Amino acid sequence: MVDHPDKYDYSRAKVPGPLTQEMEAKKLEKKRAQKAQRKQREQAQREERQRWEQEQGEKQRFAALSDREKRALAAERRLAAQLQDTSTTLANISRCWQCGESLLGRIPFHYLDFSFCSTACLQTHRRARASHT
Ligand SMILES: [Zn+2]
Repeated sequence: MVDHPDKYDYSRAKVPGPLTQEMEAKKLEKKRAQKAQRKQREQAQREERQRWEQEQGEKQRFAALSDREKRALAAERRLAAQLQDTSTTLANISRCWQCGESLLGRIPFHYLDFSFCSTACLQTHRRARASHT
């Protein structure tokens, strides 16, 4: 049709139109675009699946933790949030009554209304109080 534009009555033969190189190129381009789109979709599905598997793994890992480990995890998250909050200054974080260690992001040990970084600090403090009285 391109080479012999007047040889046949193309409209009567219902030939849609000449397949020029430009059209071929366009068709190819369209195909390539579709292929790229499909690839993108597949990539997104793969990532979605990966996220889901990670979430499943995380779920199982968390469920297998002891209560203390779960609390530690929650405390860690709180710490991260607190550290991002610039209003938290070093002066107003709570500290171990015995050694002054920051209790930020830890699960403190308590007795009465004292808080400690470790059972060792708690016991030292308790012993010291006991010897006073
Ligand atoms: Zn301490």
